Amino acid sequence: MCGIVIQVDVGPYSQGAHIRPLGLKHGGPDVESNVLCLCPNDHVRFDNGALYITDDLQVIDALNGTVLGPLRTVPKHHIDLAHIQYHRSHLPHVP
Ligand SMILES: [Zn+2]
Repeated sequence: MCGIVIQVDVGPYSQGAHIRPLGLKHGGPDVESNVLCLCPNDHVRFDNGALYITDDLQVIDALNGTVLGPLRTVPKHHIDLAHIQYHRSHLPHVP
């Protein structure tokens, strides 16, 4: 989302963030199309609804409505829009 790459001794570090959360309440699947590779800051913000993603994969700051820019993607990583839509509609954020 932010473009920051965190380098550690074994290479770049990121966290796998489930778009539709796992667990009984949300029931998200643990599959690649339901995962984003994020830095820790964006992971926390995304999980708590402070960031969300539009259907055209723009990253939005939910606290002030600012468009932060396009989600950085790679062609071989398919992201399921249904999970993006679920995240938008089920997690707390200010639209
Ligand atoms: Zn980030």
